[in-house]
Amino acid sequence: MFHEVDELIKSGKYQTAEKLLLTILQKEEEKALYDGGVAPGPYEKLISLYWKTREIDKRNRTIVRFLIQPKYRGARPRKIYEKYLKAFKEYSESELQEMIYTGYLSNIQKSPVLKVKLTCSSCGKIGLYLRPTGIEIIGYCCAYCCESNVGVFDEIQVSNDSLSSYDDNVVYRDSTNKNDQEKKLGSNLGGVSYISEKDIFKLINSEITKLDTYYDSLGLHAIEKTLKSTIKGDKRTIIQEVHDGSSPEMMVHIIINNITADFLESGRFHIYRGALNIAGEGLLKVFIKSYDKLHELDPITYTKELIKDQNEVVKRNIKVVG
Ligand SMILES: [Zn+2]
Repeated sequence: MFHEVDELIKSGKYQTAEKLLLTILQKEEEKALYDGGVAPGPYEKLISLYWKTREIDKRNRTIVRFLIQPKYRGARPRKIYEKYLKAFKEYSESELQEMIYTGYLSNIQKSPVLKVKLTCSSCGKIGLYLRPTGIEIIGYCCAYCCESNVGVFDEIQVSNDSLSSYDDNVVYRDSTNKNDQEKKLGSNLGGVSYISEKDIFKLINSEITKLDTYYDSLGLHAIEKTLKSTIKGDKRTIIQEVHDGSSPEMMVHIIINNITADFLESGRFHIYRGALNIAGEGLLKVFIKSYDKLHELDPITYTKELIKDQNEVVKRNIKVVG
């Protein structure tokens, strides 16, 4: 596809090249919400295309568009970041970093993937990053300064000072939807509830026993093992997420949402290209209902609009894999 773009640019067909690149960006960005990052290549091409056509406003917006995505590590994002600093030199660097980080946050909120806190080894700023299921180490770009980092989740979480006492107590922000059981478990300290690690997993287990009355049984059966092993394997992340304000109940449905999306897009539950088998149909039902539940629990993050978008992404991906 890149070759095609190059050919178009060479022969002066700028508008066709622009259109093609914009389609590539869109796909890249949808995919990044599941696998953790966009590649800089197509953005660089579009940025230089707009430079060539003297469409400076569009060029600058493409620079920002890249910077507010989750990004893979590498030297190139930093180059685009430097262009950004130059293009908006009337602002200070820290203002510019805040601007892209805000855009980035609202972007990654659209992702059903778990998010973890990581500290940049270069600028020292703490940011939220996508952690696709099953990944222990990620290379990522700092969402503020664009320097490359390697995040080893467990190490980073253990070395995080604010979490030093989290074996006994974990901070858990009051959510408007907490149920009575959670109220009982958390002793309220100045608007913030404290819930122990043990109690988080007690609540998670009690949520799991309720799942078969809510979800399609075939779909649930297909993910049961993975659900249990994910909860076991991602203990630290779950604690961190609860620390960041998600309720244990939410965590269960977020993980279910993640796993079903992964399974549906993997092609393992397809009869042939684009068609799901019976377990696959069950998975799709579970996936859709997990979003209903997340909307019920947190309508601000999981807006109807976001859910509609995400459902379409997964349905489209079912059509292309298999
Ligand atoms: Zn940084």
